[in-house]
Amino acid sequence: MRTTTHTEVAVVGGGPVGMLIAAELGAYGIDVVVLEERGATSGLPKAGTVHARAVQALTRRGYLGLPRWSDVPVTEQFHFAGMPGLSITVPAAEPVPILKRAQADLEREFEERARGRGVTVLRGHRVTALRQGPDGVDVVAEGPGGEHTYSAGFLVGADGARSTVRREAGFTEDTHPATVSAMMGLVRLVEPDKAPRGWCRTERGWVITKPVPDGHTSCARSTATDPIPTGTHGRPCENCGTRRPGSPDTTSRWRTPSP
Ligand SMILES: Cc1cc2nc3c(=O)[nH]c(=O)nc-3n(C[C@H](O)[C@H](O)[C@H](O)COP(=O)(O)OP(=O)(O)OC[C@H]3O[C@@H](n4cnc5c(N)ncnc54)[C@H](O)[C@@H]3O)c2cc1C
Repeated sequence: MRTTTHTEVAVVGGGPVGMLIAAELGAYGIDVVVLEERGATSGLPKAGTVHARAVQALTRRGYLGLPRWSDVPVTEQFHFAGMPGLSITVPAAEPVPILKRAQADLEREFEERARGRGVTVLRGHRVTALRQGPDGVDVVAEGPGGEHTYSAGFLVGADGARSTVRREAGFTEDTHPATVSAMMGLVRLVEPDKAPRGWCRTERGWVITKPVPDGHTSCARSTATDPIPTGTHGRPCENCGTRRPGSPDTTSRWRTPSP
């Protein structure tokens, strides 16, 4: 059955960006609906580092729960995609230059804030189409109850790299072919103590390993030139161990345009 719900703002995509925007709008008492296709936050390893500007902005808006950092400027050395050489400085009294925090944890925190501020978060809802009207936009979503239309004054497209909003709204995109393929996942290492920690260059790219709190290791492997074959999703990590028991989808592939 087709039904329509009215809202001031529809946010498509409940990743970190969508949930944070929803939480911020909710703080101003704006009526917001988030439409997210996933049933729950993905625990797969994704971003793990929050950089200085984001740390500062989030802290000022009352997220992260970080203490005041230092009375003097603080500098940390970091890397970009495994290439060392970044020197990141924050002024005195700002939080840390680099914060290690799992993306999934931030997503959960932002979602909790959003819900606490009255935002309606609809999981299991995949947006399939948009229709521009004179005073707003109709957002069509497939949910557990079938197709439903959300009539919104404003729309936020926060649905990631392969955005339906971008396609439906007719935004052009400028993309470049990948030069690096990589695969990452949660693995149980056969000999965890022998695994090198952090970013390690290899002849074909790099391997990254880092322990995560539940006893698994987050592991990524890249090949600079060889594409990772399709169909590897969910397979055991060939470099370092076995698949997480009972969770076949613990490896994923991604590509990036430049090393
Ligand atoms: C391996 C890896 C490591 C990374 N490391 C870092 C890092 O250390 N630091 C950093 O700052 N960034 C890092 N990034 C980048 C970071 O993960 C992304 O910038 C971030 O996820 C973008 O957030 P987003 O909310 O815009 O999009 P996404 O996280 O992609 O979220 C989009 C959401 O929209 C939903 N969605 C998509 N289509 C629809 C639809 N049609 N209807 C409803 N919902 C939909 C998806 O289910 C998803 O939940 C990393 C990325 C990868 C892949």
